[in-house]
Amino acid sequence: MPPTPQDNEARRKKEFRQQYKQRERAEACRRMRLQPDELRKLLNYLEEQLFRVGVPCDPTLSRTRPWAANEGLDPEQVLESVRLFGGYCDCEVAFNVTPDLFRWGEIPKAGEAE
Ligand SMILES: [Zn+2]
Repeated sequence: MPPTPQDNEARRKKEFRQQYKQRERAEACRRMRLQPDELRKLLNYLEEQLFRVGVPCDPTLSRTRPWAANEGLDPEQVLESVRLFGGYCDCEVAFNVTPDLFRWGEIPKAGEAE
């Protein structure tokens, strides 16, 4: 049986949604200068500093900046990236700039349909 116009319409909408989502993710990844591993490392570091060592937030990016320098990254680029995603101070980075924004964990595995 040939597809009905409704089928085609539904498929077009689904394709459009998928393309939109892919563009959004690609854009988020492009604007985030940190690699997934680097972001996870930063988050672990901030979590330890803020919640385990218990040093309260300034509230500035006073820990993110030296962390970036220490990792051999450009601190200005890193700060710019985290601010774009709502991280205006160290604790906001820890709360807002989470890896799932970029869907790094959702890259379909080989043989797995989206
Ligand atoms: Zn803070």
